[in-house]
Amino acid sequence: MSQPLLSVKGVETFYGNIRALGGVDVEVNKGEIVCLIGANGAGKSTLMMTICGSPQARTGSIVFDGKDITRMPTHEIARLRIAQSPEGRRIFPRMTVYENLQMGAGLDNQKYFNEDVKRIFELFPRLEERQAQRGGTLSGGEQQMLSIGRALMARPKLLMLDEPSLGLAPLISKQIFEAIGKLNKSEGLTVFLVEQNAFAALRLADRGYVMVNGLVTMSGSGKELLANPEVRAAYLEGG
Ligand code: ATP
Repeated sequence: MSQPLLSVKGVETFYGNIRALGGVDVEVNKGEIVCLIGANGAGKSTLMMTICGSPQARTGSIVFDGKDITRMPTHEIARLRIAQSPEGRRIFPRMTVYENLQMGAGLDNQKYFNEDVKRIFELFPRLEERQAQRGGTLSGGEQQMLSIGRALMARPKLLMLDEPSLGLAPLISKQIFEAIGKLNKSEGLTVFLVEQNAFAALRLADRGYVMVNGLVTMSGSGKELLANPEVRAAYLEGG
């Protein structure tokens, strides 16, 4: 089998003296949707941020697309085409939807700009309707669409999404998950997804990891984890 697109091995990350990741192993293969589920504070966002280089891993290794990125600065990692839609979305509130997308394209991708904007408007027709509206005045769901759209403008090899359904109404979450599935199926986009909505994430994902207190405690196919009694009790029932 070919080597994974992303390989995280034995990664420990600290905030001062506090160990947020205690030796994490995760792999993402090309063309997969992989999700990471876990309770608040488990370390999911920290893993995603560590992959992007801030904070950096104290020990272990992170290899992306054949390159060791463990000690690489964040801007160099981004240039390898890892794009992130972070928790809280972090769009530019004073810029219009269109300008936000322009920012996402960066200098390298200007030549694809019109083509890429068209693709994103096809995926999220709402963004086309709202293209002249300032980011900060969009609804939560629209901001999430914009955050994903902006990440896609970077033409990523790996799209990392941190809690895309956070705070959204169920119908809007469903649309977001459907769009992620569509991108994966139609373009073969590789996606690493962090979610508290374990049910939706595991249904969408090829494979999943469960994180507890900075450690991966379980992994398997989306179907296996959905059927696993421990996962059901902790993340799927009554929550
Ligand atoms: P959530 O779903 O609530 O976002 P998470 O699984 O993404 O949770 P992290 O945000 O990665 O968890 O947090 C992991 C641990 O690291 C938590 O105990 C948190 O308090 C701590 N932590 C996160 N960011 C910092 C920081 N900047 N400084 C100190 N501690 C931090």
